[in-house]
Amino acid sequence: MTTSPLLNVASWLPRSRANGPGARLVLWLQGCPFRCPGCQNSEYLEFKVNRIVTVDQVWQVFEQMPDLAGVSFSGGEPFAQAVALADLAKRVQAALKTVVCWTGYYLEHLKVANIPGTFELLEHVDLLIDGPYVEAQAENLVLRGSKNQKLHFLSGKMTAGDLVNIPRQEWTVSSEQIVYTGFPIQG
Ligand code: SF4
Repeated sequence: MTTSPLLNVASWLPRSRANGPGARLVLWLQGCPFRCPGCQNSEYLEFKVNRIVTVDQVWQVFEQMPDLAGVSFSGGEPFAQAVALADLAKRVQAALKTVVCWTGYYLEHLKVANIPGTFELLEHVDLLIDGPYVEAQAENLVLRGSKNQKLHFLSGKMTAGDLVNIPRQEWTVSSEQIVYTGFPIQG
């Protein structure tokens, strides 16, 4: 019997350059309480069982690629699975790699929302990008779709100067699938 926490994953990429500085393993979590008009990941919003994996399984994949800069969590809503993600993020930071996480909540709301695992996950996130996508405020900002969303360098191990040469859009082609990730380009 496994004691490793479970994650409900909508999609993942072992190596992406569009989801934070450097090459990163990305998890898109299944399920989001928000319904932002214009959301690019509408198929990830329903709270339903998708691909169930253990934190151990993700960690084993990550460990096999020592050149990766870290992991990124997107959604769906990562804080809906904060307990398991905190476990994974803690391991990633212990390996001296970094953690990037998007959330539809604003940071000040997260701090009072009483969502299980929230403080543990925040403790192990280097860069948090917070706030819902707001179509009326859409802009071409690094790692963000709209200008209400903010970058929070929580650990001090990453700075705005690290966010260079990050492609706004990326297509990853394998024998099984083509995965698109990134942000809409305005104008
Ligand atoms: S918070 Fe993110 S994933 Fe959720 S509906 Fe808004 S844009 Fe989509």
